[in-house]
Amino acid sequence: MELRRTLHIERRNPMEVFTDADCIIFRKYEVSCTFCGNENDVTLFKGKALCDDCRRELVAKAASPTV
Ligand SMILES: [Zn+2]
Repeated sequence: MELRRTLHIERRNPMEVFTDADCIIFRKYEVSCTFCGNENDVTLFKGKALCDDCRRELVAKAASPTV
């Protein structure tokens, strides 16, 4: 978190961090939906990437148990 703030990386752009010997490597972490692969409007839900469409679908299914 401290590094992110220092480097002015927005929370919306997650980074992968690798350590290699005494180097630290940052790479942009491309987040895509776990279910459909969509890369737009992706949020994390319980550790899974979830796009807005799938989130809505999930909510709709939760609301109607007889799918
Ligand atoms: Zn999706």
